[in-house]
Amino acid sequence: SPRRREAPPREGAVRVLPMGSSDMASQPQSDSVKVAVNVRPLITPELVLGCTDCVTVTPGEPQVQIGPHVFTYDHVYGSTGSSSSLIFEQCVYPLVDSLFCGYNTTVLAYGQTGSGKTYTMGTNYSGESNCGGIIPQVMETIFKKADAMKGDTEFLIRVSFIEIFKEEVFDLLDDPGSVAKAAAPARVPIQIRETANGSITLAGVTEAEVKSKEEMALHLARGSLSRATGSTNMNSQSSRSHAIFTISIEQKRTSSSASEKSTSNEYDILSSKFHLVDLAGSERAKRTGADGLRLKEGIHINRGLLALGNVISALGDEKKRKEGAFVPYRDSKLTRLLQDSLGGNSKTVMIACISPADSNAEETINTLKYANRARNIQNKAVINRDPVTAEMQKLRSQLEQLQSELLFSRSGSAALEELQLLQQKVSLLELKNSELYCELKEREMSCEQLAQRAIATQLEKDQLMLKLESARNGKSWDDIENAGSEQDVDLMKTYISKIQQLEAEVTRQKFTTACRNGLHDRLALDKGMLLDDLGSGCEVGTLEVSSEVDEEEKEREHSSIQEKLDMELQDLDKRLQQKEAEMKQFAKSDTSVLKQHYETKLHEMEQEKRAFQKEIEDLRHALAKLSSSTDECSHKMKDNYLQKLSMLENQVSQLKKKQDAHQQLLRQKQKSDDAAMRLQGEIQRIKSQKVQLQQKIKQESEQFRSWKAAREKEVLQLKKEGRRNEYEMHKLLALNQKQKMVLQRKTEEATMATKRLKDLLEAKKSTRDAHGTGASGIQVLLQKPDNISVNTIGFCTLTLYYV
Ligand code: ADP
Ligand code: MG
Repeated sequence: SPRRREAPPREGAVRVLPMGSSDMASQPQSDSVKVAVNVRPLITPELVLGCTDCVTVTPGEPQVQIGPHVFTYDHVYGSTGSSSSLIFEQCVYPLVDSLFCGYNTTVLAYGQTGSGKTYTMGTNYSGESNCGGIIPQVMETIFKKADAMKGDTEFLIRVSFIEIFKEEVFDLLDDPGSVAKAAAPARVPIQIRETANGSITLAGVTEAEVKSKEEMALHLARGSLSRATGSTNMNSQSSRSHAIFTISIEQKRTSSSASEKSTSNEYDILSSKFHLVDLAGSERAKRTGADGLRLKEGIHINRGLLALGNVISALGDEKKRKEGAFVPYRDSKLTRLLQDSLGGNSKTVMIACISPADSNAEETINTLKYANRARNIQNKAVINRDPVTAEMQKLRSQLEQLQSELLFSRSGSAALEELQLLQQKVSLLELKNSELYCELKEREMSCEQLAQRAIATQLEKDQLMLKLESARNGKSWDDIENAGSEQDVDLMKTYISKIQQLEAEVTRQKFTTACRNGLHDRLALDKGMLLDDLGSGCEVGTLEVSSEVDEEEKEREHSSIQEKLDMELQDLDKRLQQKEAEMKQFAKSDTSVLKQHYETKLHEMEQEKRAFQKEIEDLRHALAKLSSSTDECSHKMKDNYLQKLSMLENQVSQLKKKQDAHQQLLRQKQKSDDAAMRLQGEIQRIKSQKVQLQQKIKQESEQFRSWKAAREKEVLQLKKEGRRNEYEMHKLLALNQKQKMVLQRKTEEATMATKRLKDLLEAKKSTRDAHGTGASGIQVLLQKPDNISVNTIGFCTLTLYYV
């Protein structure tokens, strides 16, 4: 229908035709490259090998999952995704539309050998109508459209079928009639030429004009056969080569077109191409064997596929395309040939074919990756969420939270205020602290000064005292002044020690005097006996006299204390007796019985009174009733009632009086009871006091007794000492007597000797005077020296002894 031709790109396309793809950039087209995945079912050989399905398609999403990998595309067919029969309708039909509008379009099938590329493309179409491949459907659609547009458009439809094997282009439609081809394996490669306007042509390629779908199908079948025969010769060539089936359409509007179109250019020609590409298997060389030939093939194939991937990727990135980024078409023959179809405005669909078998998993993943890269499709957020990323996300959020908390705490007004307050407080306290510290220092210093002064004054005082002492001792003032300070210090020390000694003695003395105070009569008696015993022991006697005074004092004190305590005790006893007598008085009248009696009586009276009062009330009531009636009888009764009433009232008042009296009695009883209680308490107290006093007395006497025992012991000791002293004295006296006697004798002897010596000397004098020689006198003197010397020595010793 004419409407089909009204598509807007047509106008632009007319001027830039035939194939200037770069010129068509003026019409931006989004989604110039679409990627679809076709998952074929498990085929018999795979099932025989026991392979399982390892590919999952997310239902309702263009998403393929294999192991941990998830990929998203424009479309996913097969498996649990859309039905494969929708591939044409969703992906290819729009391309056919674009073709008729003048666009170059391309469909590429990519994937490993046996993944279903040929099947999906329908490259091996044999003419059977039930085949669901893309190429047959495209052919059918094109001819349907062309037929529909036949009225005002002339169509020139041609097909070409080439294959690229080891970077050489071969014509699959060459010499259709030749049967000898099979026998002539050396095919001639076709050269690629670039025309002046930049378009690519294949020199001498067969471009067969077709008038019908059947004719086209025949060419396709022949080409496929040619490829297949090649593969028999060249070791499964089909999977090692890229096959490109190209449909070119030239549309020429006829003059008999619709009236509204007649104004436009009469010679409009639209020329466009549809490339249907069955790419070589994408599997790696190692999988197909590692011999040199295969490796080379692999390298070539890989180069082509890599280049194709790069081109598609570059085209897929809209930003790059707009910036006019370099598209590496020249990297391979494949991309060069497809250059005009893969550029700018052309529309391309890539179908990645995959096998679901787990044995192909590695290749399948590679295919999916390639397809993903080719389209630059962003995977959805749900995908590829591994634990590390999740952990990172968690940590990041935690970090954010902490940062915000930090920010808050930094700028938190409440906390800040509090902090400031605290800081102020701290500074205040610090100030106070320093002040106090200063004060303390001052105080310490003054204290030290005072201490020093005290020491100094002490020193001065001591010095003065020393001087005073010296002065008292009769030293002259100058001597005192001259006394060296060093001497002073020594003296002071000795004095101090002396003072201490004296003080200690004084305290000891005090203690002994305290011990001796108040001695008992018996001790005095003992003392008398002791004195008798000692007799002339004067020293012991004086000691005993002084101790006697102490003991007497002590004895007196003790007796006075005892007396006082006894008095107290007696007093207490007296009081106790008194109280107990009082108590007895109270107890005499059996108050409790009385009280009970009165109380019961009181209660009875109360009840009686109440009964009376009730009766009175009743009577009054009756009276009131009677007063309302006026007959005779009632009057009488009224009087009667009144009498009764007055009587009752009398009784009540009497009862009240009695009750009052009883109550008074009871009150008195209570009072006396209270007094009794008080007395009881007092008695108790006195008793406890008495016990205490007795204890005290006991304690006192105990103390005295122990002291007395100690004293007696001391006395006994003293007695012993006295006896010893006496004995010593007697001994000494005897010795003395003896020595006195010796002395007397010796002195007598000495006087005798001196007398004799005198006599002798006088006699000598007289004889010398008479005879003139003193020789005999000297001889006598010399004869007696021993005697004299012994006496002299004895005298001397005695003298010394008495001194
Ligand atoms: P390739 O061309 O990628 O090497 P083929 O198209 O030759 O792979 O397919 C290999 C085998 O898988 C063929 O026997 C074909 O019949 C089968 N096959 C491929 N795709 C499908 C499909 N969608 N449904 C059923 N069988 C399929
Ligand atoms: Mg194939």
